[in-house]
Amino acid sequence: MIMNIIEVLARYFEQDTCIEHLESIRWQGAPQCPYCKSKQSTKRKETSRYQCNGCNKSYSVLVGTIFEATKLLLPKWFLAITLILNAKKGLSSMQLGRDIDVNRNTAWYLQMRIRKAMQEGEDQDLFTGIVEIDETYIGGKKANHSKKKRQERRDNGLQITGMQDKQAVLGMLERSGRIKLQVLDKPQGKTIKPVIEQTVSKDASLVTDGFGGYAGLGKQYKEHQILNKEKEEYTRGKYHTNTIEGFWTLLKRGVYGQYHKVSVKPLQAYLNEFTFKYNHRDNKSIFDTLINKCALQNNTPVFS
Ligand SMILES: [Zn+2]
Repeated sequence: MIMNIIEVLARYFEQDTCIEHLESIRWQGAPQCPYCKSKQSTKRKETSRYQCNGCNKSYSVLVGTIFEATKLLLPKWFLAITLILNAKKGLSSMQLGRDIDVNRNTAWYLQMRIRKAMQEGEDQDLFTGIVEIDETYIGGKKANHSKKKRQERRDNGLQITGMQDKQAVLGMLERSGRIKLQVLDKPQGKTIKPVIEQTVSKDASLVTDGFGGYAGLGKQYKEHQILNKEKEEYTRGKYHTNTIEGFWTLLKRGVYGQYHKVSVKPLQAYLNEFTFKYNHRDNKSIFDTLINKCALQNNTPVFS
């Protein structure tokens, strides 16, 4: 349990307490107009709004954050954030809706906004050391999900059914800690390499299987270990892709509990949630980390 639900409920039961908390994160005691940046303002009585002495507009701490323009009270947002963080395999919008007593569309909207906030400031340092890279497919018929199953069908000359419903996902896992996941239109060198370049440092050691999309990476990176899995070579000393394969198993358990058919944009948002939780698995103040991101984030479109 990352943050006790009772604790969050008790601490953030009132709208005002939530507002004060967000104000302390965003302004550190000095309210600032989001429109003209003036710090001269007059607090309006009986509301959480300020009147700017510079441009005369009124504002609250919620302007420009994911919380802006929702009728939903902040205690429900804070509770939703806690429930999402505590759900190891993810939470369907149906379930979240029931838990915080809102309709499914509202719950979905909350989830998408929170997932957006999870991304803020996450892609900073490039991955180094041993980096396991692998691709997988999400969606489609369950019987053909695993790579091994698909290979078996291929070997037996059978058609791989349901591929048209599937989404390819590229995963890069830094052995010492972080993961990055990217939905791909088509898994091939052209789409894969730019994503790796954005994520992985040139002095990293890459480990992949023999998939053609990875060919040539050895020229750009310190080393590229290509495991010959068709000949059952799954490990070469410290080089293997077991960590990311274990991650795929966990991810899929979560995805199939929530989605029957996944399309690219919600899937990427879902992957971002899973990534955030994985990358912060040892972060004891993950709740505060996420609230901070929510408080500072710009209210850009969810799918930008
Ligand atoms: Zn102003």
